[in-house]
Amino acid sequence: MNKQNILEKILEVYQICNISSFPLDCLDLISKCGITCKSYSSLSRKKQEHCLLVSEEAFTLKNEIYYNDKILDKRIRFSLIHELGHIMLNHKENRSEAEEREANFFATNLLAPRIVIHYSGCKNLADVIKRFDLSEEAAGYAFSDYKYWLRKAKLQFPDTDKQIYEHFFNTEINQLVWSISECECCFFYPAYNGSKVCPSCFIANLKKHQNSFDVQEYALDLLRSQKLYGDI
Ligand SMILES: [Zn+2]
Ligand SMILES: [Zn+2]
Repeated sequence: MNKQNILEKILEVYQICNISSFPLDCLDLISKCGITCKSYSSLSRKKQEHCLLVSEEAFTLKNEIYYNDKILDKRIRFSLIHELGHIMLNHKENRSEAEEREANFFATNLLAPRIVIHYSGCKNLADVIKRFDLSEEAAGYAFSDYKYWLRKAKLQFPDTDKQIYEHFFNTEINQLVWSISECECCFFYPAYNGSKVCPSCFIANLKKHQNSFDVQEYALDLLRSQKLYGDI
């Protein structure tokens, strides 16, 4: 399976699971894909020992994912999505090296899509770790691959990335959305992309404090978007 096909599978997962922000909730995403996920600690001691012999981190058996919940959260996130990759990409047992690489490509791009690294303004490794809740190793790979992706995307923008952009694009704020939280002002509407308030409260505040430095800074923040693919 080539990279383009894997990216199409990732887009399918975003659509099926209705993913709209990052970092992803991996266990929730796997369950929305209709796949059962069992932690080692939920099994009998004997089964746990057997699991640890198969893998210290995670493995797939009969389309069910088993994972070691004693491993640090950030690290197990990648392993979980790697195993999901094997299932979504229809890999059989006794996987080849090529299939392992495909599952890694699936995991790194699903957890931190290169176009979202770009539009969320990640400038360094620490930004990628924080925004996508990845281990240093996984974020390091994603960030160096992003730089390679960016060089290529500037020459020719890949179709699948356009579709991923469209999936995360929000017409209310006219931007790609990478994070959603609850508005700290009305506690009702969503606040986007690291902002503390929703668009309606922002406008209301702007009218109240036209000259406040904070509001002006915030308005500037909203205007700063890194154009690559452009508006849709
Ligand atoms: Zn694997
Ligand atoms: Zn609000």
